[in-house]
Amino acid sequence: MSRARRHPHRYRKTTTSFGRVWTCALPDCNHYQPRHMETLLPGKQATCNECDNIYILTHEKMLSDEPICDECETLHEMRRRALQEKANSSNEVDLDEVMKGIR
Ligand SMILES: [Zn+2]
Ligand SMILES: [Zn+2]
Repeated sequence: MSRARRHPHRYRKTTTSFGRVWTCALPDCNHYQPRHMETLLPGKQATCNECDNIYILTHEKMLSDEPICDECETLHEMRRRALQEKANSSNEVDLDEVMKGIR
């Protein structure tokens, strides 16, 4: 499938010559969102920075410079918890086994 010219942009906060703005990270796309129009972004479709899923941008997601979809957020959270548990317990936890359980 060829990349359509119109796509949900892969929003990433980037430092440019005109400041920190949301730009599209996809190749062949030079879209950027002017600072004064950032408030229009929540509610828009975007492409996940990790898995290419389409998700809806929210204020919460935009706290991150590289917003990701709900699925990836869940995975990150579970991974974080697994690592925390590993750090907290003296028992060895095999992270690969934990991740297999999640997927
Ligand atoms: Zn784009
Ligand atoms: Zn994702």
